[in-house]
Amino acid sequence: MTSDKFTPELIAPCGMNCGICKAYLAYTHGIPRERDRVTHCAGCIPRAKNCYLIRGCPKLRKHEISSCAQCVTVPCKNLAHLDKRYRERYDMSMVENLRELKIKGKETFLKNQQEKYRCPNCGDVVCVHDGNCYSCSYRRETKPIKSAE
Ligand SMILES: [Zn+2]
Repeated sequence: MTSDKFTPELIAPCGMNCGICKAYLAYTHGIPRERDRVTHCAGCIPRAKNCYLIRGCPKLRKHEISSCAQCVTVPCKNLAHLDKRYRERYDMSMVENLRELKIKGKETFLKNQQEKYRCPNCGDVVCVHDGNCYSCSYRRETKPIKSAE
């Protein structure tokens, strides 16, 4: 179980790898939904999730394109907003992902994602959102957001 942890349908239109998302990891690892604190999601594409990017983009909505990687105006305003939030909070960039997807293709992209988010302890996946491995007790040290005390 090495390189097929992430499959192409886990690549969301925005360039996000749903395989590293908290809601996907909770779902695939059977983490119970504690009231509304844990969301379960099978991935944006498997769930046909109508996110705000799709709602805000006529090309995605009309299925003229299936990924922002096929768009000539990357990033649009909505994607730039999402990208900025992810870069600041999670040290991840949709725009960079899309660039990599365009240049290297899905297979290489997923292989690199595998390397980047592999748990050093057990080889499973470290979540981009909370830095946790859902298979063992590994917890990535999160970078300090700002110096508080
Ligand atoms: Zn682990």
